[in-house]
Amino acid sequence: MSHKDVLKAAGLSEAEISGGTLAVHSPIDGAEAAKVRETTAAEMPAIIATSQEAFKAWRQVPAPRRGELVRLLGEELRASKEELGAVVTLEAGKILSEGLGEVQEMIDICDFAVGLSRQIYGLTIASERPGHRMMETWHPLGPCAVITAFNFPVAVWSWNTALALVCGDPVIWKPSEKTPLTAMVCMKILDRALKRFGDAPEGLVQLVIGGPDVGEALVNSKDVPIVSATGSTRMGGIVGPKVSARWGRPILELGGNNAMIVAPSADLDMAVRAIVFSAVGTAGQRCTSLRRLIAHNSIKDDLVARLVKAYGSLPIGDPRKGTTLIGPLIDHASRDRMQAALEQAKSEGGTIHGGKTVATGVPQGGAYVQPAVAEMPKQTDTVRTETFAPILYVMGYDTLDEAIAIQNDVPQGLSSCIFTLNMREAETFLSSVGSDCGIANVNIGPSGAEIGGAFGGEKETGGGRESGSDAWKGYMRRQTNTINYSADLPLAQGVKFDI
Ligand code: NAD
Repeated sequence: MSHKDVLKAAGLSEAEISGGTLAVHSPIDGAEAAKVRETTAAEMPAIIATSQEAFKAWRQVPAPRRGELVRLLGEELRASKEELGAVVTLEAGKILSEGLGEVQEMIDICDFAVGLSRQIYGLTIASERPGHRMMETWHPLGPCAVITAFNFPVAVWSWNTALALVCGDPVIWKPSEKTPLTAMVCMKILDRALKRFGDAPEGLVQLVIGGPDVGEALVNSKDVPIVSATGSTRMGGIVGPKVSARWGRPILELGGNNAMIVAPSADLDMAVRAIVFSAVGTAGQRCTSLRRLIAHNSIKDDLVARLVKAYGSLPIGDPRKGTTLIGPLIDHASRDRMQAALEQAKSEGGTIHGGKTVATGVPQGGAYVQPAVAEMPKQTDTVRTETFAPILYVMGYDTLDEAIAIQNDVPQGLSSCIFTLNMREAETFLSSVGSDCGIANVNIGPSGAEIGGAFGGEKETGGGRESGSDAWKGYMRRQTNTINYSADLPLAQGVKFDI
């Protein structure tokens, strides 16, 4: 199928994918897949005003009824899984199973949010005053901007949107300028759910297309109380302070520099499988990709030899082929950054295995690379930097304390893991003196989180939490209520004020 046929099969019309100003290139072959219309700065105030109007109506709809819309969205996603997955592959270059997996993640969060719509609980709190009751009530907060990155072009939108909708908040979505087509397909799918739902307010979920300037309009507007932004630490460093400066609520999901500690007792067969999946899956373009391997010196050489062997047989190529495991990088600039990082690592004393550009047996025009293993003498500046490509830096350690210190000594704090069969080591890694990341795993890699847990990280990863657990609280305002059902007016803390 041609790129255009894939887009049309997913419901986009010729008019929607041609004649615009934003050219969208497929990473598969670099070919222009579409030219879509961009949202202009002049349109943004009306879009935000529509969202505010939608909020006035949506906040009054009972949460379980709001959940019904998300249930219908989940149904429509199930029905369109193949078509949307194919567009994820076309536009982000993910292999087929990862494209479908991303849509499955959307379905899963819809299921979660439907249940949540009947579980938006507040606490009841013991009051110190007789004849009084205290409680917490959770209220909708208002329009939620969702700014997303190219590498999870649809799942991140759904993590935010499924929760925001049941919490009573309208959504304005600005996808990456590299992946507007998947967003347009999602809006078609949502439209079908909205039609079946019947009476949702106009503009409950809106899509705006363009680059950082379109995002900035949302970031700077006081009428957009929540800005959930996923992307680079550089972007978060600009967006976070701007939202905070106008007293908005930023939810930041930024870069990671995820590590695995492999202890002497580790099941190495399992570790190798976990390392390969998490380091080369999505061509190293997951926020949770494994980027640093901290291996005990007694097993390090054996582990590196096994990895180099495993890397040598990985099928690299067209992500649309069922046998491919490593698809393209998003673009040539990304490949150049990978090559530059490898050069830098070499100059810092690194020994590089793989990492070369692949030009044969792959579609021409795409940026295909061999994944790289870089043995490093220590944790250098290059290792501390997130390069969004399949580079795995390997370092040795002697004591667990040393390994944990290396693991934590980077600016990012997203995901981490340890492979060990030693219970003391595992529990220490998960304890207050262990990993400083938002995600810490034992005997499983750092990537591929399930939606049931809260997702996010510390330090320069931004501190935000999305998806499961109680991440929904980020989309609501908490109100503490005290109710006096007595005939007296006692004051708290024993204060007397007789008038
Ligand atoms: P990016 O920062 O280039 O862009 C992300 C989004 O932010 C895009 O929509 C972009 O248009 C927008 N943006 C950029 N500057 C902006 C500004 N000043 N104001 C408003 N919006 C702005 O990131 P990318 O290259 O698309 O994605 C890769 C990065 O995303 C990696 O660092 C990766 O680790 C990170 N990421 C993090 C998570 C997470 O959950 N922690 C998930 C996915 C990706």
